[in-house]
Amino acid sequence: MLTKTPVHSDNYPASFYAASANKHDNYPQLQENIDVDVAIVGGGFSGINTAIELAQKGFKVALLEARKIGWGASGRNGGELIRGIGHNIEQFKPQIGAEGVDAITLMGFEAVDIVKQRINEHHIDCDLRWGYCDLALKPKHMDEIHEDYEDLKRMGYSHELKLYDQHSIQEVIGSTQYLGAMSDMGSGHLHPLNLALGEAAVAKQLGVQLYEDSAAISIIKGNKPVVKTALGQVSCQFLVLAGNAYIGHKLEPYVGGKVLPAGSYLVATEPLTESQCADIIPQNMSFADLRIALDYFHLSADNRLLFGGLCTYSGKDPKDISARLRPNLAKVFPQLANVNIDYEWGGMIGIGANRLPQIGRLPDANNIYFAQAYAGHGVNATHMAAKLISEALTSQAERFDIFAGINHMTFPGGPALRSPLLAAGMLYHRLLDKL
Ligand SMILES: Cc1cc2nc3c(=O)[nH]c(=O)nc-3n(C[C@H](O)[C@H](O)[C@H](O)COP(=O)(O)OP(=O)(O)OC[C@H]3O[C@@H](n4cnc5c(N)ncnc54)[C@H](O)[C@@H]3O)c2cc1C
Repeated sequence: MLTKTPVHSDNYPASFYAASANKHDNYPQLQENIDVDVAIVGGGFSGINTAIELAQKGFKVALLEARKIGWGASGRNGGELIRGIGHNIEQFKPQIGAEGVDAITLMGFEAVDIVKQRINEHHIDCDLRWGYCDLALKPKHMDEIHEDYEDLKRMGYSHELKLYDQHSIQEVIGSTQYLGAMSDMGSGHLHPLNLALGEAAVAKQLGVQLYEDSAAISIIKGNKPVVKTALGQVSCQFLVLAGNAYIGHKLEPYVGGKVLPAGSYLVATEPLTESQCADIIPQNMSFADLRIALDYFHLSADNRLLFGGLCTYSGKDPKDISARLRPNLAKVFPQLANVNIDYEWGGMIGIGANRLPQIGRLPDANNIYFAQAYAGHGVNATHMAAKLISEALTSQAERFDIFAGINHMTFPGGPALRSPLLAAGMLYHRLLDKL
C-alpha cells in the first residue's frame, strides 16, 4: 500500500528530509534597506557556504533566500557526497591543458574535504557515513570504472578504493543487476537538508544576516550594486548569485540563460528491518550507476531506502513519482518490490551545456559573481565553488582594489602633449625629493 505525507511541512516540499529535519531557526523577511559588503542571492549550499567563507574573512554579509534555507536542490537531493567535479573533464584538455584537468580533479577531492571539515568543525548533525560505490551496468561502464581507478591512483587519491566483479560485488550490494563496481571510502552519504540548516546556523553565528521569504526581484548594477526584494533592498560592494536552477531568466539573463533546470526525483521507503538492510546494503554505502539518467540510492539513518532517479526537462513533476520510480527500485532490489513508500519528492538540478560547474563574474559587472550548474553532482562542488568565489572576491577586494580604488588622471592634451607633461611632472617630484 502506498502512503504519502501531506504536501508541505514547515514550507518545505514534503520530503523525508523535511520530515526528519533537525530543530532549526526560521529567518526573518527583509523589510528594510541595508548596506553590506557582500549580498548573496540563494540559500542553498552555494550561497550559505560562500557566506560562511566570506564572514570568516571579516566581510559583512547578507543572504537572501526566496523561500526557506535549503528549499532548493540542497535540501532535497540524494545526499550522495561523491569525489569529483563535473563529468568527463578530459574533454576540456584542449582549453585548459593537462594541468587544468589535474587541477579540477584535485579540487574534486578537496571539495569533499571542505564538507567533511565543516561538519566536523561545527558538529553538524547530518548522518554523514563514509563509503560509496560506482556501479557498472554494462561492459563500457566497467571500462570507465577501471580507467577511473587508475586515474585516481595516479592523482594520489588517499582513500581506500576497491574493485568488485559480478561475484564479489555481493559484499557491498544485494543485487544481481550489476557487472561490477568500485567502492570509495572517501565518498559517502548524508542528510542534505540537515547539512544546509546546520551550515546556515554556522553562518548566523558568524554574523551573516540571513533572510527567508525574500526573493531578489531586481538588480541595479554599478559600483555599489543594489538588490531589491518586495519589501526591502540590499546595497553592497559585491553580489553573488547562487540561485542555480531556480534563478529563472529575469533576474540576470546572462546567468539564467546558461543553466537548464532538469527534474530528478526520490522516494523513501518505510523503515526496513535490520535483516533487510543487511541483505541489500550490508556496508551502509551509497550507490549510483554510470548512466546519465542514473539510479542513486542509500539507506537513511532510520533504515529507509532512499532511491532516486529519472531526469525530466519538461519543468513539470511526474504526477505519481512513486509509480515512476518503483519499477526501477524493484529492478535493483526485487526483494523490495512490495515495500511501502512513505515519501516521494523531487527537485531541479541545474545543468550547463558542457556539464561543468559555472563559476564566474558577469562580463558587464566585475563585482557580481555567480556559481551554478553542478549537473547533479553538487553536494561537494558547491562547497568548492564557495571557496573559489571567496578567494577571488577577497583578492579583488583586498589587493586588486587597493590599486583599482585610486583615481588615475588621464593626461590632457592627447598624445602630442603627453610626454612633455610627464617630463614636467617627474621633474617636479625630483625637485620635491631634494627639499
Ligand atoms: C533530486 C536531486 C537529487 C540530487 N542528488 C544529488 C546527490 O546525491 N549528490 C550530489 O552531489 N548532488 C545532487 N544533486 C545536486 C545538488 O543538490 C545541487 O547541485 C546543489 O544542491 C546546488 O546547490 P545550490 O545552492 O547551488 O542550489 P540550490 O540548492 O537549488 O539553492 C538555490 C536557492 O536559491 C533560491 N533562489 C533562487 N532564485 C532566487 C531569488 N531570485 N532570490 C532569492 N533566492 C533565490 C532558491 O529558492 C533556492 O533555495 C541533486 C539535485 C536534485 C534536485
